[in-house]
Amino acid sequence: MSLVFDNVDKHYGDLQVVDRFSATFRTGEVVALVGPSGCGKSTLLHMAAGLERPSSGQVLCDGKPVAKPDPSRTLVFQEHALFPWLTLGDNVALALEFQKQSKAAARTQATTWLSHVGLAGFEGYYPHQVSGGMRQRAALARAFIARPATLLLDEPFGALDALTRLSLQDVLRTLVAEAQPSVLLVTHDVDEALFLADRVLVFSARPARVLREFTLPHRRKGHDLGDFATEKRQILALLGVEVDAIA
Ligand code: ADP
Ligand code: MG
Repeated sequence: MSLVFDNVDKHYGDLQVVDRFSATFRTGEVVALVGPSGCGKSTLLHMAAGLERPSSGQVLCDGKPVAKPDPSRTLVFQEHALFPWLTLGDNVALALEFQKQSKAAARTQATTWLSHVGLAGFEGYYPHQVSGGMRQRAALARAFIARPATLLLDEPFGALDALTRLSLQDVLRTLVAEAQPSVLLVTHDVDEALFLADRVLVFSARPARVLREFTLPHRRKGHDLGDFATEKRQILALLGVEVDAIA
């Protein structure tokens, strides 16, 4: 599914959050959005999700204006947002029951997807009985089970410890390779952007404007991002981090 931002402005009252943003996100492409806190990244995802409207300009999905949320464009937040009164299995299965699948079929698939994210055997646990990393794994399973054409990920691993984050990045990359959704990934972690994305858009402080776009070779090998040292240095410099002064 292609997603197009065509000259999009967004204001909240007097506050301009997005400044004439144009971009095309192609089918199956993973694009990372990085930029200073408060610059408007989440606002861009909310417009892609249909939760917010542009003040001017258009957001188009497969050529049609995005007017409201749709299951084909799933948003995953930093906070897992599982229902606390449902087990992990029921939380994940719910995404399919919304698609009018039978409860039994949904439960079977939920078990499969929980195992894809390393949660085999935890179907019957409630969110409060597992760790934050496990809740976020379940949230990813819930996002993927409905096979959305577009995944909108808003700092999905931002609240996790470093090791859990690395392991979930691997899970995400595997799931993306299998299901081939288009992904917009907001992250403040430059390594995460370089590891997961085909392209990285670096934004200015508010109002969000693209300072620079980086296109990365399609398949990267591992978490050792030595090949991308130059890009990392350039992205950090655009974000105002003086790498040389630290080293
Ligand atoms: P980011 O995700 O890049 O940190 P956001 O897109 O969340 O930034 O927010 C950008 C700016 O827009 C912030 O100053 C924020 O306070 C403001 N903002 C976001 N959503 C709303 C809203 N619904 N109403 C008013 N202001 C908002
Ligand atoms: Mg945000």
